[in-house]
Amino acid sequence: NRKVVLRRHVTGYPTAEDMEVVVTSDVRLRVPEGPTPAVVVKNLYLSCDPWMRGRMTKHDVGDAVPAEDFVLGEALVNFTVGKVLDSTHPEFDAGDLVRGMSAWEEYTLITQTEGLFKINHPELPLSHYTGVLGLAGLTAYAGLFEVGKPKQGESVFVSAASGAVGQVVGQLAKIAGCYVVGSAGSDEKVNLLKSKMGFDDAFNYKSEGGDLGAALGRRLPGGIDVYFDNVGGATLDVELLRMRPGGRVVACGMISRYNLPEHQGVRNLWCTIPKRVRVEGFSCMDYHHLYPRFEEEMASYIKAGKVTVVEDVVRGIDKAPEALVGLFSGRNVGKLLVALA
Ligand code: NDP
Repeated sequence: NRKVVLRRHVTGYPTAEDMEVVVTSDVRLRVPEGPTPAVVVKNLYLSCDPWMRGRMTKHDVGDAVPAEDFVLGEALVNFTVGKVLDSTHPEFDAGDLVRGMSAWEEYTLITQTEGLFKINHPELPLSHYTGVLGLAGLTAYAGLFEVGKPKQGESVFVSAASGAVGQVVGQLAKIAGCYVVGSAGSDEKVNLLKSKMGFDDAFNYKSEGGDLGAALGRRLPGGIDVYFDNVGGATLDVELLRMRPGGRVVACGMISRYNLPEHQGVRNLWCTIPKRVRVEGFSCMDYHHLYPRFEEEMASYIKAGKVTVVEDVVRGIDKAPEALVGLFSGRNVGKLLVALA
């Protein structure tokens, strides 16, 4: 059983050497005898997500945001898609395709099955359940509609727009009848946004001469009604000046700050007052009750060609550490995942 373990706690930018792929002899293909119902899952796809970075740091009791650290020498844990090999749990049978939280390893014994769910659309690519039909998709759906509440004709700006969450946000906002602009970190990503993902406009924030305000002003001269923020930092600060009265900032993620020793202040927060702008953070975990409705809607959009999915598939568990750290330099093009089988 090969697994990806954390070798040392991380400060600053993570490197592949902070992790290690180890081979262990604890291959379990059957649920051991005992009173606790459980399943053995063969993991097929590992989802790579920015939030894993937070769990690589050693947190202190009393930190502002409590986090459950990954344990040194043990497998990382995140969302995976897999196949049930054996089950003593009444809700799962061998052969079921499932999504849920699992260790980053080839075979996992899962005793806490509350976070394990059957896949209802096996006719779609299974890898989609790590992203567009997984937590990234639900994050986009809940963040946009429950927090951002866009109305037809409004303007929506999305940062990290070609990524797992951003690409879904933009396409859902188009379906809702909005004018949608995205920013991304390379010309290749910008082209994808405009040619494949139906964004009305997009720009490479790294090649705007550092003047993000001007870049936004040119593309959204009338201002922004909904900003879906995946990056925080300087982008959020500049963007706040461009919000329209009554606008909503969906605080989804702040990846530009995850590897810095401390968050830097957002100087332009003041303008939320005269413009009555609402800034609201949220966690996708609070919206899991929407998953059944979301899954059906999203599956139908994908089948109808209304949502195009771009995935960055890295093959082999040995490549997982290198893949994961690439999220923080923007190496991934689309939803990043590792295919194991
Ligand atoms: P992505 O697929 O978008 O990958 C991360 C991308 O972030 C990179 O490709 C890169 O794109 C961009 N990025 C990396 N470093 C920086 C930086 N220093 N400054 C600006 N951009 C950077 O990831 P996800 O779609 O999975 O996640 C997007 C955001 O959503 C993250 O902040 C994540 O933490 C958050 N999130 C929040 C959830 C919630 O419940 N609130 C749930 C899931 C995710 P580029 O090349 O365009 O810069």
